[in-house]
Formats: sequence, structure tokens, C-alpha cells
Amino acid sequence: MLSKLFKMHNRYIEMHISSSRGRIAKSVKIYFFPLAFITVSIICILTYLILFTMFYYQTIDEVIYSQDVDKYIKDRLSNTNSDINFMAPIKNDNAIISQGIKDRHHGIDIATELGDKVFASATGQVIYNGNDYIYGNIIILSHQDNFYTFYGHLDTILIENFKFVKSGDVLGHVGESGIAKGPHLHFEIWNKDGYIDPLKMNFNIPNILNKD
Ligand SMILES: [Zn+2]
Repeated sequence: MLSKLFKMHNRYIEMHISSSRGRIAKSVKIYFFPLAFITVSIICILTYLILFTMFYYQTIDEVIYSQDVDKYIKDRLSNTNSDINFMAPIKNDNAIISQGIKDRHHGIDIATELGDKVFASATGQVIYNGNDYIYGNIIILSHQDNFYTFYGHLDTILIENFKFVKSGDVLGHVGESGIAKGPHLHFEIWNKDGYIDPLKMNFNIPNILNKD
């Protein structure tokens, strides 16, 4: 049977271990300074881990419970009948509709000046922004009631993926990226049944297609 004996010294504790018969004897010195250093280090590491965990989960909470998301979900839930309004994505008086829906062209082209602001046609969320071979720099927004809007040939994209936007927020600038003859916005509206003619939304933009 082992017995333990502690002796306090100025700079260390001496631990004396010996068997009851006195055959095995060992003296261990535990110095105060390294002991304190290790203890403080462990406390610091634990504190860091606790604070990091708290901050990490707080950040997630902020994202999930931000006001934008609350409003978006409330809007979606409160609109069982679709009353969504689409505004013109271009506000230049000189803009014209240069092309409508035909064959594989599922939207309208709004010819306007390079660098014109492109506005969100309705309140929603950015579900995609990136580059497409034909449509160049594109943005796709998701709206209430399974509506989507598509903006193509942009010069610049000003919003990030998954950001919530209000109707009329600036998304980017008109360009001629992708395959385009001159600066124009390619604009589409979709719902769960397919594409919709944006000209049905009565945008106040002259339509040169009707001038003949
Ligand atoms: Zn087009």
C-alpha cells in the first residue's frame, strides 16, 4: 500500500511516495511556476472555446432571425392569392422594347443606354447571379407565389446571392455581356407554369414592335 506525503517548499511541492514497507520510495517535485503556467493556459483555451462557440451561434441566430427574412416569410404566407406587381426594370425615358417573346426568346429586350440602372421588378430574393454564355452577366430573383424574374446582358452586378431586395432596388447596370447587339436588358418573368409575357404588365416603355 502506497502512502503519499506532501511537503511545501518555497518554490515547489515535494511529493514523497513510498510503499508501506518502505521498499519503494520516490520523491517528485512539482514547481509552482510551470504548474501555474499550465493552469492559466488551460483556462485561457477553455475561455476562448466557450466565447468562440457563443459568438458562432449568435451569428447564425442573427442570420436566421433577421427582419428581412421575417418579412419575406410573412409576405409569402399572407399572399395566398397572387397580387404581385411587377414594375419596369428600366426607368430611362429613351428606353424602348426592341424584342418581344418569340420561339426560344422567353422574355423582352429593353434597349437603353449602357450603364443604366437595372431595378428589381418586384420584392424578392437573389437566387442566382453569375455568367451565362448567351445572356452574359445574369441575375435571377425569386418572388412570392413562385414567381421569378431574370435579368440578362448586365454590365455589372451589384448584389450578392441570397440577398433580399425590395421592388425598385438597384441590381446592377445595363450592358452587352454575352451575345448581344448593343446595350439592352433581357428580361423574363416566370411562374410555376412557365414564362409569362412581361408586356402584359403594362410597363410604361414604348414598344417599337407595335409600330407598323
Ligand atoms: Zn433578349
